[in-house]
Formats: sequence, structure tokens, C-alpha cells
Amino acid sequence: MSSPFSPEGVAKQLDYCTYCPKMCRLACPVSNASARETLIPQAKMDTLNQLRRGRVPWSEPAAEPLWGCTGCRHCTVYCEHDNEPGLVLFSGRAEATSRGVGHPRLTDYPARFRNRDERLAERVREHVPRDRLGADTTVTFFPGCDAIDKAPEGISKALSLFDAATDDRVQVADIGRACAGYPLLAAGYPDMFRWHAAKVAGDLKRARTAIVGCSACVYTMRTQYAAEGINVSTEVLSVPEFLADRISRTPKRNRGESVYYHDPCYLSRYAGVVEAPRRVLAQIADVREFSWSGVDTVCCGGGGMLPKTMPETADAMAAQRLREIAQRGGGTVVTSCGTCSYMLARNAPRGVEVTDLHAYVADAAGAQPSPDATGDRAPGAEPSAPKRPSSTSDAP
Ligand code: SF4
Ligand code: SF4
Repeated sequence: MSSPFSPEGVAKQLDYCTYCPKMCRLACPVSNASARETLIPQAKMDTLNQLRRGRVPWSEPAAEPLWGCTGCRHCTVYCEHDNEPGLVLFSGRAEATSRGVGHPRLTDYPARFRNRDERLAERVREHVPRDRLGADTTVTFFPGCDAIDKAPEGISKALSLFDAATDDRVQVADIGRACAGYPLLAAGYPDMFRWHAAKVAGDLKRARTAIVGCSACVYTMRTQYAAEGINVSTEVLSVPEFLADRISRTPKRNRGESVYYHDPCYLSRYAGVVEAPRRVLAQIADVREFSWSGVDTVCCGGGGMLPKTMPETADAMAAQRLREIAQRGGGTVVTSCGTCSYMLARNAPRGVEVTDLHAYVADAAGAQPSPDATGDRAPGAEPSAPKRPSSTSDAP
């Protein structure tokens, strides 16, 4: 049997979708939020199939529906054939880009990605003291680009939790790169992705374990690196997996609060991380569920470059995701991904607060960041660089 992503496998998936009675049509958060029939999974796959078969000439307008997907995989949950429209559409984006008809907002994306990655790698050095930086360590922390860009204060909170959870001295990965490369793949630049991924995997290989704060980075490092033939010798764990494995040492001060947990698509549906965050949160709060949760979670709009290609739809998806919580009277939503956290927080209705799991656990437990995790210098320690205001983000 051929791989689902070989040329034959992709062709088969496209044909199945083209002639499907749209079994997954209600599962797509992009078509639901945009109310565009051309963006239901079957229609997007049919679009790509017509382009592939040469029945429609490749052009920017013809390929436009390919960009209306976050890769969230919700359609796959409802597909009898286990088709993967998200990943197939990403391969269609690469074809469109190679033909010069990629998305007009992403034409110079590799250069922008590189500039942002370098800027954020430098930003880590401004927020983390030197003796907590490095990848020559048993356990390293790779926060992910949006966590560094939008919530750098969370890095010291994460370190304080890791200090409680393990005897290993966790250091923040200082490898000159802040992102595992998923945006390059989603933007239609697989060659650039391959190059970047090889660098990240090579730089991280000195660590036995990498704790990764971004759901798309976890998926990318575990699955897409291997799919591209890039060997990741480092164990890759999400933050909730790392903490759940050390549950006897994580904080347990339950303040009697109820919190909702939002499952990031790339953690729950691709990486199967559903139970770990709930185990960690249950130590300190009563965990409540969205109507759609676990492997049936609904995307926040942050994946697949949608905030770049269809920003209004991306924001509408985040707002729609939180509407249910507002209707229930509001509350706190916890998630395990810097991008989800950012997308949900910026679209949160009144009465709904959004926070990252590591920040919530550290705050709720009253964990005091250890002096050297905050940048407060211990006697004799090297001074860290002065902080500067965050600059305008280029992402997500
Ligand atoms: S993903 Fe499956 S259910 Fe959805 S359109 Fe394709 S074949 Fe049909
Ligand atoms: S992967 Fe998600 S966004 Fe893409 S077509 Fe499927 S349900 Fe829609």
C-alpha cells in the first residue's frame, strides 16, 4: 500500500474527497466561521484535484481555497477513509508556490520567517539569565515562537515549575532559532522547512529531552521531521506530558477554582496528548470541558498560516470558540500552546480569561520563580542584557 502522502496516495485522497457526499462538512471551523461553501473540506480538496488534473489552470484566484485551512484535522475525525485534507492541502500550497501562484501575502515569507526567528532567539537571551540558557544539558526547554513573542514572562514561570518537577537543571534552548519550522511548511516552502528542521534537530541533539511549549512544534518535530528523513534523537515532550510524568512533584495547592481546558488541535489530534494536561490541572483546580474537547476539539484559528492569509476568519474562529464559555457565565480557559493562548486571549469576550497551563499552574500554586529563573542575579552571576519593549510581531 502506498503512503498517504506519496503522489499516488495524495491522488487517491483527492479523488475520494471529490466524489464524497461531504460527510465531514460540519467539522471544518474555517468554513463554519467564514460561511463560505468553497471552504468546506470536500470543496477545497475538489479544487486541488481540478488543479492537479489540469482541468483548471493554476492561478492565485484558482488556488485561493487551498489557504482556507488550519490543518486542524477535525475533518479526518469524521472521515471513513482517514483522509487528511489538512496535510494534502499543504502539499497543494507547495505546488502553487513552486508555480509562482502562492498566496500573495506569503511571497517573501522565508525571509520574514528568518528575520523573526533571529529576533526571537535574541529576545530569549534578554529574558533569561545566561546560566539558564543552553542546549548542552540533559533537559532543555524550547518555548516556541509565539510564547517568546507574546508572553515571554511565562518562560520564567515554566522554569520555576520545571525546577519543582525535576532534579535536572532545565535550560532554555539557546540555539539561535525559536521555531521548529511549521510555518514554512504551512506557507508552502517545504525546501526551506527541510533546511530549517535539520538545523534545529542538529542543535537540539545534545539534549536528552526537549520540553516544547508550542503544539505545532511538538507535532512537527515528532512527525514531520521524520517524514522528511530528519532524525530527531532528542525526546520531544509537550509541557503537560513532562509535568504529568512527574505528577508527584508538581504543585497541588487546589484553590477550588474551576477552569476550562482548550485542547490544541496539534496536541490532541496529531500527538494524542489529551489526558496529561487534565491530570496536571486536576492537581490544583476542577477541570471543566468545552462541549467540543479532546480529539473533538475546535481549532482556535491560529494554525495553517490562517492569521496571515485570512485574518478576519482566524479571529472569528477564536471568538466562536470562546462564545460558549461566555454564555456559561465566563471563567478561565487554560491551554497548552503559545499560539492558541495568543489567538484566544486576543479574541476573548468580557468575563473570559485565557492563560497557558504552565503559567496557570505556577500562579495558582503560588510558585515563586527561583531567583535565577527570573533574571534576578545570584551573587557572582553574569548580568543578563537589559529588557526592551516587545517589537511588533510578524506572526502568528
Ligand atoms: S475528508 Fe473524508 S469525509 Fe471529508 S470530504 Fe474527504 S472523503 Fe469525505
Ligand atoms: S484540517 Fe481543519 S481546517 Fe482543514 S479542512 Fe479539515 S477541518 Fe477544515
